Amino acid sequence: MHEYSIIQSLIATCGRVAREHDVKKIVKIYITVGRMSGVDPHFLETSYRFFREETVCEHAEMVVEIEETEAECQDCRKLFPVKDFRFDCPECGSTKSRVTRGKTLQVTHIEAE
Ligand SMILES: [Zn+2]
Repeated sequence: MHEYSIIQSLIATCGRVAREHDVKKIVKIYITVGRMSGVDPHFLETSYRFFREETVCEHAEMVVEIEETEAECQDCRKLFPVKDFRFDCPECGSTKSRVTRGKTLQVTHIEAE
């Protein structure tokens, strides 16, 4: 599963950061998940709770921030929010749009003590 490997590398990163900064435990992890990232936020959290056992992240809360999808029309250059996977331009009706936001999958912040 995609989410499993993401979480495993996330926890490995936290472990490395903790060692490098002489940190005892991680308190909070902020992660941004785009709607178009291919990752299910709910499943990501479930995976996280499973894999954090007996790691530096054991007591760390994961805060998932959802990044909504936005696209740019390639004909009239309008930027518009994508709802329900509708990629046609609300301005001119063109179907030639390019996703400009929503593919992010990134840890933005880690709190430790
Ligand atoms: Zn347009």
